[in-house]
Parts: sequence; C-alpha cells; structure tokens
Amino acid sequence: MNLTNLFELQNIDTQLDAFQAELINIDARIGKNGAVQNANQAVLSIQNEIELIQQGLNLIIEEIERKNIKLSQSDSMLYSGKVQNPKELQDLQQEIQYLKNNISDLEDKQLNQMIKLEEIQKSHNSAKSSYNGIASQFETAQSQMAARKETLRLDSERLRRKRDVVLSSIEPELVARYELLRKRKKGLAIAALENDACSACGTQLTPSERQEVHQSSKIFLCPTCGRILHQN
Ligand SMILES: [Zn+2]
Repeated sequence: MNLTNLFELQNIDTQLDAFQAELINIDARIGKNGAVQNANQAVLSIQNEIELIQQGLNLIIEEIERKNIKLSQSDSMLYSGKVQNPKELQDLQQEIQYLKNNISDLEDKQLNQMIKLEEIQKSHNSAKSSYNGIASQFETAQSQMAARKETLRLDSERLRRKRDVVLSSIEPELVARYELLRKRKKGLAIAALENDACSACGTQLTPSERQEVHQSSKIFLCPTCGRILHQN
C-alpha cells in the first residue's frame, strides 16, 4: 500500500502542531510586563525614600537656622551690657553654650542625612538604569514575538493549503483511520521505518515483519506502539 501521501500528511500535521504549540507559548508570554513593573516599582520606592530623607534634611536645616538666630540674639544680649546681674549673665552664657552644642549636634545630623542622600541617589541611578535595561529588553522581546507570530501565521496558512491538496489525494477511509490514530497516539499516527526500526518507539522489526511492511497490501502497524509503519 502506498502510504507516501499519508506520511506527507503526517509531516504537515506534525509541523502544524508544532506551530500551534509555539503560538500558545508566545501568547502566554506576550504582553506580560511584570518584570518591567517590578523594576519601575523599585525606582518609585527609592524616589519615595529620597523625598523622605530630603524632607528630614530640610527640617534639620530650618532648625539650625532658628538656633543660629537665637544664638546671635543671645550673643548680642551678652555683649550689649544690658545684662548686669551675675545670675542672669550666667544663665545667658549657659544658654549660649547649650545652643552651640545643639547646633553642633544638628550639623552632625545634617551631614549624616546628606551622606545617606548621596548613597540613596546612587541606588536610584542604578535602579533607573536597571529599569531602562529591562524595559528595552521587554520591547525587543515583544517585537520579536510579534514578528515570530506573523511568520507562524503565514507558514501555517501555507501548510494548510498544502494539506488540503495532499488530503484530497488520500482515500477518506484511510484519512479517518489516520485521524483516529493521531488522537490516540499524541498526534503521531504514522512512523517511518528507519534502519528496520519504528522511528516513533524504536522497536526493531523481525525480517518477516519487515517483509510485510515492504510488500503488504494492507496497513502494517508497529507491534509495540501501534502506529502505521511506512517504508520511505
Ligand atoms: Zn512503534
């Protein structure tokens, strides 16, 4: 029995199945920008942190300004000669010392906040460049997937036209048997005989079985996997 056309039909269907599987795989991945969103979220959260540090820094700077005004007022009071009472003079001197210590503490704080700010700005830059990389990778992958989809669509169309032609050359009964086997055998109904073995399951045929494949007027099924065997 000449199974050349049926074998070709199988090759076309196998290819179409592969295209279909690839399409499903692409559709599952296309438009999924979770990684881009995560990278963007990381940038935003660092920006948020920068704002908080900046606000804290502004408060410290304002506080230092207020304390400095107070200090210069107390200083001029001290040297104005208006305060004569020793107790009051002592209080004033204490207050000046207190303000100076206070300002010095605040300036340490200010410096720490500025160092923090500088460090977090570095993280911000690296998060931004990481985001840019991920976003551009995403765009590239999107356009590659879209292009691949278009190729798959055109190739599938071409194969389906070819399939129609091949199909019309095979007896309907054989086609029906083929379709049934395809459903049962994971899409592969007919296998080639390669080096006297079934190319689907690897079973080696006996000489008499080989004879049958070669000359039989009926269809010969692989004794192990049950697929139609075809000698090229
Ligand atoms: Zn087999």
